[in-house]
This record gives sequence, C-alpha cells and structure tokens, in this order.
Amino acid sequence: MIEVRKVSRRYRQGESPVWALHGVDLRIQDREFVAIVGESGSGKSTLLHLLGGLDKPDEGEILVDGWSLVSATDRELTQYRRTRLGIVFQFFNLLPTLNVLENVCLPLQLQGQKEKEVRQRALELLEMVGLQHRARHFVHQLSGGEMQRAAIARALIHRPKLLLADEPTGNLDAENAERVMEAFRWIGEQGLTTLLIATHSRAVAGAAHRVIRLATGKVAAPEVSSEK
Ligand code: ADP
Ligand code: MG
Repeated sequence: MIEVRKVSRRYRQGESPVWALHGVDLRIQDREFVAIVGESGSGKSTLLHLLGGLDKPDEGEILVDGWSLVSATDRELTQYRRTRLGIVFQFFNLLPTLNVLENVCLPLQLQGQKEKEVRQRALELLEMVGLQHRARHFVHQLSGGEMQRAAIARALIHRPKLLLADEPTGNLDAENAERVMEAFRWIGEQGLTTLLIATHSRAVAGAAHRVIRLATGKVAAPEVSSEK
C-alpha cells in the first residue's frame, strides 16, 4: 500500500512561494488503477515525482509498504526505482539505436539477468500490448501509439510494484491513445501492478478504478469515482 500523509511541496517563484502540493493525503491499495486528474499546474507531475522518489516533499510522509521514501537515502531511492518502479513518460524515451525487443529487454539486461529468460518475458509483454509483430522494428518505424505501448512493456519487464505514467496519451491522436488506453486497462484488469496515471484524458480516467482530482495542490473532495 502507498500512503501519502500531509504532503506539501513548495517552489520559489520570485518573491512568493508556490505550493505545488499542499497537505495531500492519499491511500492507494496494491493493484489499484488510479487516475490523477486536474488542470495544468494542479500538482499532478509533482505528486508522481515524489512517489517515484525523484523529489522529496518539504513536509509530510510518503510510505510504500510502510517504508519511508522521505527518510530514504539517495542510494536506497535508486534501488527502489530500479527494482520496484516502472515509469512511462509522455515522450516515450525509447532508445532509437535498439529495436523494440531490445528496448524492452534493456532494464533487466542491465541487471545481468539471463538473456533467454529476459527475451521470453519481453516477447510475452509485447504480445500482451499487441506489438509482437513489431518486435524487430526500430523505434522510428513505429507510430506514436506503438512507441508508447513498447514503453509500457519496457516499464513492466522487471515486475514493478508501482507503475507511474505522466500524461501517457498527451502526445497521441485519438486512435493511438485508444490503443494505449487498452493496454492500461488490460494491466488494471490483470492486476499486474499498482497503476497511477496523471491524465487529461476523460477516456483514460474512465478506465481507472478510481479518480483523484487535484486542484491547486490539494485533493479536491470528495474523490469522485469513475463513471464506468
Ligand atoms: P501539473 O503536472 O498538474 O501540470 P505540476 O506538478 O507540474 O502540475 O506543477 C504544479 C505547480 O508547481 C505549478 O504551479 C508549477 O508552475 C509549479 N512547479 C512545478 N515544478 C516547478 C519547479 N521545478 N520550479 C518552480 N515551480 C514549479
Ligand atoms: Mg504535469
């Protein structure tokens, strides 16, 4: 379980501080699929960065299975990201010199795992996101939606406890966004991992088990459930 307790993060902009997050309390259960929605500047990316151990709050506590991200050392946070976290970005961040299969395998290969087993798992994941026929293609040969589905497969290869995605359909047309959303819906249905997606897309939010709305750094009460 992930617990966010009275978390605040402020930035300086000129004279006055900006509260990117202000007293946020959340509990997210294992294998829950949660959408974080809210206007631009409401604090969605800040929240994901904190949960990803990429930034620390000014106040409050963040616990992952009771383990404090706030008191963790840089070394522990690196280990956390490497072993327990998957991240999907708006702009895919695939390596252009590798084919799709190699991109998906890379995180586990860097950990020195057996090549045959890694490839087997990567091929299974590519099939699950509907990309088995693209395994040997290079990144520039893919559509945006295919790139994002490859990035999702890559983010799942080491069986992360938590998958964070920041505006994963923000750069895609409707048809590609739909296919990416199907992949997330499938992950949620299978309960592969806890899934937290910051999104502007009503469709992505509609696929989630729960929707949390942020407004100027605070959780807008009550948390609305999805219309599905
Ligand atoms: P969202 O992802 O919902 O658009 P963000 O979390 O990116 O929102 O930003 C929340 C607020 O914090 C905004 O007012 C933004 O300008 C501010 N902010 C975010 N990151 C920084 C930063 N590195 N320096 C200064 N202000 C920041
Ligand atoms: Mg953002």
